[in-house]
Amino acid sequence: LFISFEGIDGSGKSTQVKLLAEKFPDAVITREPGGSPGAEEIRALLLTGDPDRWSAETEILLFTAARRDHLETTIQPALDAGRTVICDRFADSTRVYQGATRGDLRATVDVLHDAMIGREPDLTIIIDMDPAVALSRGLARGSGEDRFEDMGLAFQETLRHGFLALAKAHPNRCVLIDGNRDPAAVAAEISAHVADRTEP
Ligand code: C5P
Repeated sequence: LFISFEGIDGSGKSTQVKLLAEKFPDAVITREPGGSPGAEEIRALLLTGDPDRWSAETEILLFTAARRDHLETTIQPALDAGRTVICDRFADSTRVYQGATRGDLRATVDVLHDAMIGREPDLTIIIDMDPAVALSRGLARGSGEDRFEDMGLAFQETLRHGFLALAKAHPNRCVLIDGNRDPAAVAAEISAHVADRTEP
């Protein structure tokens, strides 16, 4: 089973990945951008340095290149070995972050995805969260690694609507989870959805 987590910055996604991982000790836990040595190198190119270094189109190519390497070297081998893969972000992040925030580049994202990735998760957990709360959480983390985290409320609102639209467009694959609650309650709901897909 291939499970991805999606949501705006500060939605509590990474916490929920950890909580689900505790229930699947044999699962491969991974993340994007990154998740393989080559893709982690591309992550560094994407997330550090001058924010205007890459055009939107180049950014799409870099995210897709990172995803291709991650899929080839980490995700697909694990799935082939019968393991569960839990991934913090996957292609839906590119559809929303690169496809819907710097003009409408969704068609470009989709063409590259079809040509180079061609795979969706079996289950995508989209954690929905009030952007004002998420933003304050995201900034509170203050890792300093990440130039994307500092882009303001309007940006987060755009992302949120992008994720809501994806949840609506792909109801078989995506479940929308209300993240404005106690993390344990959110985790319990996520576990129930995963159990639905894993238990006969
Ligand atoms: O989920 P995480 O915080 O590790 O993601 C790192 C950053 O990369 C996020 O702040 C997000 O804004 C950005 N990102 C992006 N486009 C993607 C995936 C992540 O801009 N496709």
